[in-house]
Amino acid sequence: MRVTTAFSRLLRLGRGVVVKKVRFEPDRVIVEVALRRRRLICPECGYSTRARKDTRPDCSVWRHLDLGIWRIEVHCRRRRLWCPEHGARTEGVPFARPGSDFTRDFECLVAWLATRTDKTTITRMLRIDWGTVGRIIKRVCDDELDPNRLNDLYEIGIDEVSWKKQHNYLTLVADHQRRCVVWGCEGKGEKAADAFFEELDPEPAAPSPPPSPPRQPCQPQEPAIMVPFGPCPTVPAGHGIPGAWLEDGFELDPALIARASQLTAVSIDMTAGYAASTRHHAPQAIICIDPYHVVQLANQALDEVRRAYWNELRSLGDQDTARRFKDARWALLKAPEDLTDQQAATLRRIKAAGGEVWRAYTLKEAARAIFEPGLSIEDVTILIDRLLSRLPRSRLEPFVRLGKTIRKHRDGILAAIRLGINQGRTEALNNKVRLITRRAYGFHSAQAALALIMLTCGPITLHLPHELHALGIG
Ligand SMILES: [Zn+2]
Repeated sequence: MRVTTAFSRLLRLGRGVVVKKVRFEPDRVIVEVALRRRRLICPECGYSTRARKDTRPDCSVWRHLDLGIWRIEVHCRRRRLWCPEHGARTEGVPFARPGSDFTRDFECLVAWLATRTDKTTITRMLRIDWGTVGRIIKRVCDDELDPNRLNDLYEIGIDEVSWKKQHNYLTLVADHQRRCVVWGCEGKGEKAADAFFEELDPEPAAPSPPPSPPRQPCQPQEPAIMVPFGPCPTVPAGHGIPGAWLEDGFELDPALIARASQLTAVSIDMTAGYAASTRHHAPQAIICIDPYHVVQLANQALDEVRRAYWNELRSLGDQDTARRFKDARWALLKAPEDLTDQQAATLRRIKAAGGEVWRAYTLKEAARAIFEPGLSIEDVTILIDRLLSRLPRSRLEPFVRLGKTIRKHRDGILAAIRLGINQGRTEALNNKVRLITRRAYGFHSAQAALALIMLTCGPITLHLPHELHALGIG
């Protein structure tokens, strides 16, 4: 077998790609390939033509999967074409995404690893930097994400996660039924939620202005027929699309009409932004408060009490006890069943000492107990009202504030329980998102961080290169 034939079999670059020459260099193998097809294909849209734009070839290089310890480089002289839509482009190749310096197989391996392992493992194993990983997963995500994933949403959760430094946020929308993240953007609050609803129900392209009818001076102008359109099923007068302006044969895509009006429940945190946006764009949906956030707030209140107590000890010069309390943080914040032996011992010491930290702990546990699985809505109502009567009398400022917040959102919390949006259901996804977001800290762009979240928690199934080839996808 000739060496070119052998490499053609080994690399599997796709139909119509011929290996011309193989060159061994000290640290890499260079495989020169050519495209057998006569037509030139636009890499963006698939438009094909026989005409070359000019005779200048474009020499391109892609990194392919390593072969043993050898780094493999694919070299190809590509022709240039003129696409009516995209202008001057270098012709597409079957083995790589447009604009990429890596083959699809290589990118597929990077994406798979990025969702499963840490930065150091990937960069060392594949010999690429983390920024490159970010750009690769962005491309894979754009390519693999199901464009129909926003259809058929009924119960969703809108939440933010802090990214990089404290004041950088990503807003994510989760589908409670499929238990995955379906949408994300940079930023938080009402604006971010508005951006989601805009993508859910995009404004149609501005219709051409109405053909001005010949003026008939004495006749009053007839009102245009309004086609209901928009997030709200009932359209106020003067809104919607003037039906008379739709061109012949032009139909609105029914899937795109008011997908927000299908939403039955939207779970959010206790800040005002997401609620305002939801009420505006999906007024029919029940707004529920994600139990996860109630427990989170209770944990924050406890941490405030603990910190104040610790600072007081320090200012009194009691360094030893102060140090013991600093270590106590996790003993207090973790669920009792998850404590290590040492943390459990610390917790017992805090209990024996009594005082405000212990009181704060029992209040936090009472808040957590509301969302134990298996409780009926009646049980939860009793527990929440009992907690609401305890909190204002707690003499702990953070817990008095917590009481006010919970009272304000009592109906939303109960709505979540009624709809089965419970703590366990959202917590698993939340924890996964937070773990992945920490891994994405090293990326420079929020887009790369979002891509990693979507690849890991979104409606995407990633395959390894050999699985793709076996399935006939690669
Ligand atoms: Zn094109």
